[in-house]
Amino acid sequence: MLILDAHCDTLSEVLDKKIDLFQNSGQLDLKRLYENKNSVQFFAVFIKPGHSAYALTEALKLIDLLKQAAVQYPETMEIALDTKDIRRITSEGKVAAIISIEGGDALSGELSVLRMLHELGVRALGLTWNYRNQIADGVLDDTGGGLTPFGKSVVSEMNRLRMLIDVSHINKKGFWDVLEQSKNPIIASHSNAQTLCGHVRNLDDNQLLALKENGGVTGMNFCPAFLRDDQQATIDDVIKHIEYIAGLIGIEHIGLGSDFDGIARTPTGLEGVQCLPDLINRLFRLNYTKQQVEMIAGGNFMRVLQKVIG
Ligand SMILES: [Zn+2]
Repeated sequence: MLILDAHCDTLSEVLDKKIDLFQNSGQLDLKRLYENKNSVQFFAVFIKPGHSAYALTEALKLIDLLKQAAVQYPETMEIALDTKDIRRITSEGKVAAIISIEGGDALSGELSVLRMLHELGVRALGLTWNYRNQIADGVLDDTGGGLTPFGKSVVSEMNRLRMLIDVSHINKKGFWDVLEQSKNPIIASHSNAQTLCGHVRNLDDNQLLALKENGGVTGMNFCPAFLRDDQQATIDDVIKHIEYIAGLIGIEHIGLGSDFDGIARTPTGLEGVQCLPDLINRLFRLNYTKQQVEMIAGGNFMRVLQKVIG
């Protein structure tokens, strides 16, 4: 069974704190992913706010960091460009890494940059982070505006290039515009259910229903503030979000998007990536079939990846 995590911020953590991607005392490293077996990890190339003049340079530094690690640890991890790569790499016992940009500021307002980032192996792009950029508004900078004309051209070009569009962090109007504009399924790589936890980063029921219509997937975020209003979250709160979303739109639209190393605190029982098998085992102990657990663990994201990136 593949265990696919659609979001971690470990690359930024490694760059900022000068720690080792292979082994560190943070929430995620290659050694633990390798030991989990059958790991597919999206590595976010996070563009910090307020650095738009250097956004592309920052993106290139983080992409380079992951590529250097692939050269340094060829027995442990390989960068995947499509689902065929993912299946081959994991069958060889290695971690399959997907390069994903978090923050369309990296494009510097140019479709040519998007195309070149795709050439470098980037397969997913979160259109915004929390703030407004050339593409759309983020959830913390919501003027009520939707996709800009440039944003619309980015969505169309991503459809053409077969890149995965990620709507975690985008404001509501932007979300609806993306759904209208995109010909392909989209993902919310790391967002939970707003009905259970009112955080602005979560998706409301109408958004979840639209995601079902679109054939997309949302990845369960482990940030305590996105799991419970009182933030006293445990591993069981992740299960509660899974059960709620499964009840509303079906199990086919749920995946994992840990946000490891992007969150200051973790739920009890999910302290790091080594705990992912515990989460899977908990689902087995509930009334889920093996096939349903496989879908949540990674099968649903693989379905979207297969359809979009090939
Ligand atoms: Zn994020």
